[in-house]
Amino acid sequence: MTNPLLDDWTGPHGLAPFDAISDEDFAPALETALTLHKAEVAAIAANPDAPTFENTVEALETSGKALDKVVSAFFAVAGADSTPRREELQREFSPKLAAHAAEISSNVDLFARISELWNRREDLELNADQDRLLYLSHRGFVRSGAALVGEQAERMKEIKGRLATLGTAFTQNLLADERAWFMELSEADLEGLPGFVVDAARAAGEEKGVDGPAVTLSRSLITPFLQFSPRRDLREKAFAAWAARGANGGKTDNREIAREILELRQERAQLLGYDNFAEYKLETEMAGSPERVRELLMAVWEPAKAQALKDQALLEEMMHEDGVNGDLEAWDWRYYAEKRRKAEHDLDEAALKPYLQLDRMIEAAFDCANRLFGLEFTPLDVPLYHPDCRAWEVSRRGEVIAVFIGDYFARGSKRSGAWCSAMRQQAKLPETQIPIVFNVCNFAKPPKGQPALLSYDDARTLFHEFGHALHQMLSDVTYERVSGTSVARDFVELPSQLYEHWLEVPEVLQKFATHVDTGEPMPQAMLEKVLEAANFDQGFQTVEYVASALVDLEFHDGAPPADPMAKQREVLETLGMPKAIIMRHATPHFAHVFSGDGYSSGYYSYMWSEVMDADAFEAFEEAGSAFDPEVAARLEEFILSKGGSEEADVLYEKFRGRLPGVEALLKGRGLDKVA
Ligand SMILES: [Zn+2]
Repeated sequence: MTNPLLDDWTGPHGLAPFDAISDEDFAPALETALTLHKAEVAAIAANPDAPTFENTVEALETSGKALDKVVSAFFAVAGADSTPRREELQREFSPKLAAHAAEISSNVDLFARISELWNRREDLELNADQDRLLYLSHRGFVRSGAALVGEQAERMKEIKGRLATLGTAFTQNLLADERAWFMELSEADLEGLPGFVVDAARAAGEEKGVDGPAVTLSRSLITPFLQFSPRRDLREKAFAAWAARGANGGKTDNREIAREILELRQERAQLLGYDNFAEYKLETEMAGSPERVRELLMAVWEPAKAQALKDQALLEEMMHEDGVNGDLEAWDWRYYAEKRRKAEHDLDEAALKPYLQLDRMIEAAFDCANRLFGLEFTPLDVPLYHPDCRAWEVSRRGEVIAVFIGDYFARGSKRSGAWCSAMRQQAKLPETQIPIVFNVCNFAKPPKGQPALLSYDDARTLFHEFGHALHQMLSDVTYERVSGTSVARDFVELPSQLYEHWLEVPEVLQKFATHVDTGEPMPQAMLEKVLEAANFDQGFQTVEYVASALVDLEFHDGAPPADPMAKQREVLETLGMPKAIIMRHATPHFAHVFSGDGYSSGYYSYMWSEVMDADAFEAFEEAGSAFDPEVAARLEEFILSKGGSEEADVLYEKFRGRLPGVEALLKGRGLDKVA
């Protein structure tokens, strides 16, 4: 019996044959692929020939192709179209994969061969790509504990397996809480809500199987509900559920999981000889140390807090004028901020929305990529894992360089948020492979037969994820290990956040923001207001973000807290967190930090990258055009095509001639002039 996951994928561009794969194929395919990879690794480690770069480092780098296929196909569906069966498989696979990775990195013979090459590196006459791969391989082994022996090596293995299990449980608990809660609305409760929120609430009610509209915890519904609903009691109820995700007691509570994760991370760092986890984690980042991260965050915190407190006073006054007494609460902020936005910028989200059609915004993202980098996008008809997915062939000068897949609509089976992932990354060895890149979002799905409309935030998310996709699609490196977005965590958001700037280029909105019914372009006055309003409420947004980033940093920079919730309170108190703002992600639902290792003591990265994206876009402004061909060529040559083949600061300096400071960011957020 053959397994479609293990067969040669002979469809267009070697895409996974999603129509032929059933859930029952995953587990046996994973077993076979793991066995295959173990045999490959064992052969490399036991090679009787003396180690060479090719027979050891490169051989290891290009091994495990079958496993890559199974894993990438599985995680594509597990994240974007989950089922109870797939969740069960994920719980089974995560510790197995972690154990497999740990087995390789603790392979004594393999590490001995790599160490020997590392010690002789001066004599190996490696080219720059090979030299980088050897450096990263050796560093990876050392950091994952390859130099540990005996009991310590055993303990490291246990810790890694347990962390993988805890990370998966954290994610699944969060998803369960997000799915479980909804609030039915009566027709009267819909009063004051714009049409698109009403539509989304009706669709949500239908999905939940209730007779009438409902609010769920999907970000694209809860956020506009908090923004528009004049019913303070309903806002409070919905907000409380939103803020309590992962902290509802019972089986899905994440607080104890968070505590154990922090404790294990600390133990892991100390086994490797670091004082704490932040020190270990930041060693490989562009920032380099907890001190530099704290310095950046605090430089932004003070002006952001000052701005937020001014805004808080203003919004509270608006509330009092509204006849509501007492303090402005967290569930009031978005509602009165929206009123203020209307008053000051006269920008009505509901009036704006008909101009932001999903299909036109996709076209806009493609068009900018065409003008900057000469990319062309042709629809591609291939079987994917869900009927909402769409695929395009990406080509330049007649040559296909990538496949791009967009999966834009929210559904119950999709985890929240938006992300970019590659089912296959660009590489030249063992043979040339073009990237297959996914953008997954959670935009509200329109009622049947109607075009999808976005909020301005949604449109920004679309551009953001597409920026990540470009980093993958324009990648031009030898080894997959350094391909595309395989860069330092605090560098990875540069291409995505930079791409958001093109949405704000007036000629882009002029051309692509056309009214869904009339086809008319967005009126000039509205366009100007959209651009003016881009800096709106930055005090709030910066505060909720920086608070999360600082809590994340303090969790990992020092002894792990016995009670993370108490630690969180303590950090916020020390900061003087404004009363009406909560963390963007509180500990029990801080998936960036606890679902995996990726953003742990790394949530600051978005802001670190923003320092660069503000500065990088200035390069286009200085050249006089957002589409300046020379600056675009430099951006591709030194950043978008290079992946992690060189250090991030080296790449940035090559692109810009210098490193950036925090000023461009403060200016970009309108926080440079706060009294
Ligand atoms: Zn991103």
